[in-house]
Amino acid sequence: MECKGNSASPSTKKTVDYFRSMFGNNDIQCAYCHKKLDELHAMYFKSPTWTWDLSCGSAGWLVICTGCKRQVFFMNETE
Ligand SMILES: [Zn+2]
Repeated sequence: MECKGNSASPSTKKTVDYFRSMFGNNDIQCAYCHKKLDELHAMYFKSPTWTWDLSCGSAGWLVICTGCKRQVFFMNETE
């Protein structure tokens, strides 16, 4: 079940596979429809360059439920 077009954006250094290997055993699921991590959309989020120039940049893992349009999980991870 490989889908190469489904990977994160080109600017992303870290992959969803990396995320799953770290958090795949955790109980991450949508609080509304109870979808598990496999069915949710995980991505590495990084705020635009100008926010980093102002020392207010943030980056981290974001998991969203596309069905409910809700954020399920966010883990801040500064570089
Ligand atoms: Zn949901």
